Amino acid sequence: MTTATTETLEFQSETKKLLDIVIHSLYTEKDIFLRELISNAADALEKMRHLKLQEQEVFDREAPLTINITVAEKEHTLTILDTGVGMTREELIKNLGTIAHSGSKTFLSGLDQGAGKEVNIIGQFGVGFYAAFMVAKRVRVQSRSYQPGDPGHEWSSDGAGSYTVAPCPGLHRGTKLILELTEAAKDYANQETIKRIVKQYSSFVPFPIKLAGETVNTVQALWAKSPAEIKDEEYTDFYKFVANAYDEPLLRLHFSADAPLAIHALLFVPKENFERLGFGRLEPGVNLYCQKVLIASHSDKILPEWLRFLRGVIDAEDLPLNISRQALQDNSLVAKINKVVASRFLKFLEEQAKNRPEAYLEFWKAFGFYLKEGATTDFTHREALARLLRFESSASEPGALVSLADYAGRMQEGQTEIYYINGQSRLAIESGPYLDAFKKRGIEVIYTLEPIDDFVFSHLSEFEGQKLVSADRADLKLPEDKEAAAEEAANRLEAPVASSLAKWMKEVLGERVKEVGESKRLVDSPAIIVNPDGFMTASMERVMRASSPEGMKDFGPKNLEINTGHQLIKDLAELRVKDEPLARLIVEQICDNALMQAGLMTEPRLMVERNYQIMARAARR
Ligand code: ADP
Ligand code: MG
Repeated sequence: MTTATTETLEFQSETKKLLDIVIHSLYTEKDIFLRELISNAADALEKMRHLKLQEQEVFDREAPLTINITVAEKEHTLTILDTGVGMTREELIKNLGTIAHSGSKTFLSGLDQGAGKEVNIIGQFGVGFYAAFMVAKRVRVQSRSYQPGDPGHEWSSDGAGSYTVAPCPGLHRGTKLILELTEAAKDYANQETIKRIVKQYSSFVPFPIKLAGETVNTVQALWAKSPAEIKDEEYTDFYKFVANAYDEPLLRLHFSADAPLAIHALLFVPKENFERLGFGRLEPGVNLYCQKVLIASHSDKILPEWLRFLRGVIDAEDLPLNISRQALQDNSLVAKINKVVASRFLKFLEEQAKNRPEAYLEFWKAFGFYLKEGATTDFTHREALARLLRFESSASEPGALVSLADYAGRMQEGQTEIYYINGQSRLAIESGPYLDAFKKRGIEVIYTLEPIDDFVFSHLSEFEGQKLVSADRADLKLPEDKEAAAEEAANRLEAPVASSLAKWMKEVLGERVKEVGESKRLVDSPAIIVNPDGFMTASMERVMRASSPEGMKDFGPKNLEINTGHQLIKDLAELRVKDEPLARLIVEQICDNALMQAGLMTEPRLMVERNYQIMARAARR
């Protein structure tokens, strides 16, 4: 190489601007320079692979397609060698001296939008080849094209306005990047550092990346292969790799799509739900790749929040590699991926529920909560989520679960609503007053045993055209058997007595209840608390109370309904005349008992005292 043949050229003015920003910005994510350079090497290798297939005449045909990285700690250099297509002299000038290529262009257009915020923006973008100047005071690019007859050249620059190009004989095919690292970046001449970065960003690059003779990227990008070619153990190994897990996944979904988007996805449901086990909120666990290069790890944008328990990879071919984190947020493509993949996963769950019900139940027990969370927060997938919900019901064996579709399939003729009732346990519900009316009519009721359940139902509001109705509503309308109703009426207190009793009870209870009325729904229980406000159920009220800062917020009094066919209520009507003080105590006790059964009793102290008074009276007889 003689100076006579060394030519000095100026960078294009746009390039200068870019270089200036790259070099002078305090850029926290410097590591990504390596991702950019490895991606370029991989691109060049991919082009080479195609050319070889086309039977073209190619220089150094037998050279294996690899990327070789070497570090020289003392000299502070990092070298990246690929056996890709290489570059001719003209290509070196065009590709590295001007900004005509995708990555850096995106970067510059990003700059225009965020004028004055350079430092911020540079942290969010990859800047392609020029990223090398974030860590190097000089970059030398020795390259020889695959085209027979290319003598090979060295391109060299300190990134300060100009570069040189000179012949460089004796090269093999491909490109060798020699980075003379700055003092501040000398850690990139450390093997362990490089290994860590390669593993983080470039694990799935489809060509071997060798560091000191050892291949660093040993895990294959399984997602891009056809499922038929993949063994179960390979899936499990891959899962362990992406999820940092030690066990096997509970479920996996591997699919590819061309339309509306070119995506590959490989998603896993873990065995354990660590969030539920009390380990704190799960971080999203799906990584976003573009053609096997990592764009965002644990991205919270590519899937809805309620799918944060999933682990795995989504590879979207059409996503620009240099997309910023900011842009990920506003990117309509990302929003589409989000919707498409979430829908596909829900469809997969439905298939599991149908074809492998046991596996689905296992999933539901560990992760059903997330689907409920989705049902309360995500309008887009509401209907698919509703089909996946499972609950106990009055028609199920204890511990067994039914779906809303099961329920709908069993609805009685003329029944147009789906009923549910909350309670702390199955036993509490079944011994409480709310089931009376349904049992009598043989109507199924879904048991909502978890605090979130009533929010789910209230949010869904209907299932395939059937309204979802809480059984504690005051305005419940159930089909009436005329004969049976007439028979019951005969057994009740006479209307004037009943209404006078109710009126008096309201006087006794004062502000504690909104109304006291005669119930048509009760069979075995003397009284029931019902909700005059159709929106908030007792269970929801409990949650709201627990989460309101004052601890207890007043959600307004409820209605008390009395069963005027019940012996206690009948006796009460007489006791009121004979021994009013005792009758008053009993009225209050009835109200408290009903509140307890509704789960709304907050201050049991008075009740216990009163209870003793009543017992004392009973014992004295
Ligand atoms: P992009 O990769 O988005 O095109 P870069 O700034 O990363 O932008 O690279 C600019 C161009 O330089 C590439 O498009 C490619 O033509 C060329 N190039 C960079 N590195 C190599 C390489 N290792 N081998 C062959 N060509 C390369
Ligand atoms: Mg690039």
